[in-house]
Amino acid sequence: MSELTFDRKLRNYAELAIKMGVGLQPGQRLLVRAPVDSAPLVRLITEAAYKAGSPLVEVLWGDDALTLARFNYAPRDSFEAYPDWYVSALLEIAECGGAVLSVLATDPDLLKDQDPELVALTQKVHRTKTQPFMKKLMNDDLNWSIISQPIPGWAAKIFPGEPPAAQMSKLWDVIFVVCRADQPDPVAAWQAHIAHLAERRDKLNAKQYTALKYSAPGTDLTLGMPKHHLWHAGQKKTLGGIPFIPNIPTEEVFSAPHKDRVDGIVTSTKPLSYGGRLIDNFTLTFEQGRVVSVTAEKGEDTLKKLLEMDEGAARLGEVALVPHSSPISQSGLLFFNTLFDENAASHLALGKAYRFCVKGGTEMDDDRFAAVGGNNSLTHVDFMIGSKEMDIDGVTGSGHTEPLMRGGEWVD
Ligand code: ZN
Ligand code: ZN
Repeated sequence: MSELTFDRKLRNYAELAIKMGVGLQPGQRLLVRAPVDSAPLVRLITEAAYKAGSPLVEVLWGDDALTLARFNYAPRDSFEAYPDWYVSALLEIAECGGAVLSVLATDPDLLKDQDPELVALTQKVHRTKTQPFMKKLMNDDLNWSIISQPIPGWAAKIFPGEPPAAQMSKLWDVIFVVCRADQPDPVAAWQAHIAHLAERRDKLNAKQYTALKYSAPGTDLTLGMPKHHLWHAGQKKTLGGIPFIPNIPTEEVFSAPHKDRVDGIVTSTKPLSYGGRLIDNFTLTFEQGRVVSVTAEKGEDTLKKLLEMDEGAARLGEVALVPHSSPISQSGLLFFNTLFDENAASHLALGKAYRFCVKGGTEMDDDRFAAVGGNNSLTHVDFMIGSKEMDIDGVTGSGHTEPLMRGGEWVD
């Protein structure tokens, strides 16, 4: 058990978000997006940001109750309405050289009783409207980060049967541990962690596998890799050279698969929370990169809607490797939140590939990026496929196959 008090850990967490997450530099404005429940944390984040030399910190508040009110009561034909000022605010921050921090916390079942058409429509409108900003974000124009914090609806889902106060404090404890905020010097702990991930990334980049082969119960998949692909992990740098960590926590090493060279079947190992609905126990069958059939025990409609969002939504845009022994996996919990669950298991993502996963990708236009195998889509949704039964092989340029992971763990 950690000896630090809750207040100290909360302060550590806020400092981590500023110093390691966004890596805020003196003179940089900060925009925070957060649920109202996270006000105590956001106040500490704001303090840490001003102490780091920010001239202006602003917060855009929202929460689940506000989202739900719209779905429950707004006119059914009004779901294309969108606040353009919201996009302007994000672009203003990017253009003035500022940074963005998001505190992501939502009840995974929030929209379970809502019309999937409307849920898909709001996702699509949001993605379409914010695309100019997302482009800047994906091209590393600015430093940004996503963290999380417990809210009652979400904590109840993770610890059902516990009294509400215990649900919240248990979830806080886990988050502090997996984010290393329980450590006396969390910044030093993160620096060591980042160095470790970088070593793994560099090894994979040197290998330049032409394909990865996955096998596990319900999974037999060959996933081609683009030429000159780049693996990434942990810390990144903006085009201007500011180091930042997009996700806290992070355990993954990831790249982009070739959008036309994925064949076989893959089975999910954790439920996917998408747009406030759960998709569970699903399989995707790929032919030449495209999903040709799906099955799902739960949320098949939602999954099909997701795949139909656009042409790229039925192809892969991310391949990520995470050992089964990761601290998040060891917590034994299902978080119903990609920020945590994606760091518990090897995963893939449907939809958009990150340009920076191919050498020179950020300078390519859409056609050029597609020609080298990069997928484009409005969406990007991670789903977990890793388990302690998963083996992964790498295929080298000379066609040689070598073991990469066995039983969910790195071979070397
Ligand atoms: Zn990922
Ligand atoms: Zn992803």
